[in-house]
Amino acid sequence: MNIKEKQLLIRERKLLAVDNIKSFLEKIKKEDKSINSFIYVAEKEALEQAKIVDKKIRENKKVGRLAGLAVAVKSCINVKGMPITCASRTLKKYVGTYDADVIKKIKEEDGIIIGMTNMDEFACGSSGETSAYGLIQNPVAKGRIPGGSSSGSTAAVAAGFCDIALGTDTGGSIRNPASHCGVVGIKPSYGRVSRYGLVDLSMSLDQIGPLCKDVYGAALMLEVIAGKSDKDSTTYEEKTDSYSSFKNIKNLKVGLSKDFESLCVDKRIYELIMKKVAELIKKTNSNILNVDLKHVKLAVQTYYPLVYVEFFSGTRKFDGRRYGEKIENSCGEEVLRRILGGREISRAEYGGQYYRKSLAAKKEIAKDLEEAFKKVDVIITPVTPKLPHKIGEKVSFKDMYAYDAFTIPANLAGICAGVIPAGTIDGVPVGLQVMAPAFKEKLLFEVLNSL
Ligand code: GLN
Repeated sequence: MNIKEKQLLIRERKLLAVDNIKSFLEKIKKEDKSINSFIYVAEKEALEQAKIVDKKIRENKKVGRLAGLAVAVKSCINVKGMPITCASRTLKKYVGTYDADVIKKIKEEDGIIIGMTNMDEFACGSSGETSAYGLIQNPVAKGRIPGGSSSGSTAAVAAGFCDIALGTDTGGSIRNPASHCGVVGIKPSYGRVSRYGLVDLSMSLDQIGPLCKDVYGAALMLEVIAGKSDKDSTTYEEKTDSYSSFKNIKNLKVGLSKDFESLCVDKRIYELIMKKVAELIKKTNSNILNVDLKHVKLAVQTYYPLVYVEFFSGTRKFDGRRYGEKIENSCGEEVLRRILGGREISRAEYGGQYYRKSLAAKKEIAKDLEEAFKKVDVIITPVTPKLPHKIGEKVSFKDMYAYDAFTIPANLAGICAGVIPAGTIDGVPVGLQVMAPAFKEKLLFEVLNSL
């Protein structure tokens, strides 16, 4: 059953919200031991909320757009009364004291928070292997990583443990696992969704976004969480209430880039993407145009100094006085690498030269995309250059960083991008990425819906 059908069934009382939640809770109990997608399951709270929703429907009261749907939340987004661990030892004892803007909006629309998901520690990673709560398994491609860092949220959607999940994407953390687990994942334009209540990885790049099995569900969730917030000055006032009503698109100009093709290590992935592109072109009577994105090959090198510095600065509050343990004494290897790297780059002697260089390269990448979008409506690319590796395989951190070569450019440019399943290779899901100009989410959803 897709989200639209379920939304209706619940409203018509053909499916009780309580039964929807109960069936997820049972499935989680039975199957999540081997996947490890949740850190905390909000059994009691979710059932209580579901009863309230059912009562409202029974009494013919108006209910919200997410009425009775189960929402899983990445453990770096504040939910009042739930553990916001960031999958770290550092924040093991921290319980959310308030609702993030996105959570407030979900609750206002009668969505039901079913639990807090596992993730790469502090969202640092692309594989789901760096959590202090144990690694997350890919529920669809057994024995392989699910991708990350929104690993638990994505695995929970793919395994059928919830209707929709929230992830965060700084350099690909929604799109990369969406690709590996065969679901839809959206990174909204920077400023589309309020970051108030998110424990940041890198505040100039982070965005909260939806993961779902279908495009409609992802669009619906983005409609709910998007919009201006007084608590996040980077958000904009713009109409966001029509993402989930799709019109059929025709005569698109679809951009492809050789610069991405050459970075794709596993050529089978590129071939699969091209096959899907050919289908789209035929179906929508569209055209392909090549775009020049010569600076995207610098994306990974540009991204990491920015993330290191911003992460280092953001983690200074975790000094052990307020939230629990001092981060340097309690974190894993990858988090420590970023703190030490960020401290080094920020040293006064360097006068900000590395950070400034990265900012300059970021501008060039954004400019490439801006120029490209004068010629084309959307750009289609693979999501990752390789298939997800097998659990236990040793991958160097540099190779891990290179995983995000196709996803980072959208974050650096602040544009929106989404991933949809394109097929499988050796039984492993492979996604396709559509990039659209900043604040063109509606177009993005329409293209995803046509794929
Ligand atoms: N893999 C990237 C990193 O480790 C992206 C993380 C993210 O998007 N949260 O920084």
